[in-house]
Amino acid sequence: MPADIYDWIAQLKSDQWVLDVGSGPGSFPRAEFSCRWLALDDDARAFTTKVRYSRVAGKGHQLPVRDGSIDLLICHHSLEHLAPLDETLAEMARVLKPGGKCYISVPNGYSLCDAIYRLVYLGGGHVNRFRKDEVIRLVEQRLNVRLVGWHKLYSSFVYLRKLMALLDAPHPVLPRRMRIIGWFSRSAAGFAQRTLYVGTRLLDRWWRTDLSVYGWAFFFERIPAQPAVEQSGYLNVCLYCGTGQAAASATRSGWLSCRCRNCDRTYPYFRPFRNTL
Ligand SMILES: [Zn+2]
Repeated sequence: MPADIYDWIAQLKSDQWVLDVGSGPGSFPRAEFSCRWLALDDDARAFTTKVRYSRVAGKGHQLPVRDGSIDLLICHHSLEHLAPLDETLAEMARVLKPGGKCYISVPNGYSLCDAIYRLVYLGGGHVNRFRKDEVIRLVEQRLNVRLVGWHKLYSSFVYLRKLMALLDAPHPVLPRRMRIIGWFSRSAAGFAQRTLYVGTRLLDRWWRTDLSVYGWAFFFERIPAQPAVEQSGYLNVCLYCGTGQAAASATRSGWLSCRCRNCDRTYPYFRPFRNTL
């Protein structure tokens, strides 16, 4: 059975713990859970929305948690931001229970999507740059875990939309390059986002490239080694909030559109093609 982060969360019992490292406002806001949940972020301002879990401001390399107390570690789009990386991984290894699980999603640090992100946001806080095999080996060795499943994460280039929201703020204090981007109209940004979304998927379909791939989601467990399987990629990604879903489980709202499971808005739907599952 393929690993799924929502299943992993739902399976935890009421006395078990999730630690969401570099959580921002919370990694999976729509997840159903009965376990205990601690979200950690070094920016307390990230905790703006009303949530059902405990929150603490802190650093990934100084986790305020006892040894071997965490059943599921979540590091969702955050490991690329966390420094120092070695100490952060050592802390994650320390707090994970024997038999615990670990979910990590990171960008491909050499992808088109990440290149545009770094360009637009002047690095955007991505202090660690990963290749797929390197990050798997690193996490397996440092956390004493084994990869049991993984899938591709595709991009909706949602950060272009978020950039426009940032520039719309009353008195944005922004570097010069961002302000230049702000001269373009909002509709131009929306057009660029949609063009990248559809265009990269069409090129991938024709040329078997991975231009629309943002990164990967990895599922690790502290169990004896067994072969890891590639699972369905999150090919369909919301243009408005960036939440992804696999094509097979996407809620269709039309022949060429589907509905976001996070914000309920609709966006273009893609069937899996050659080099995606
Ligand atoms: Zn959405």
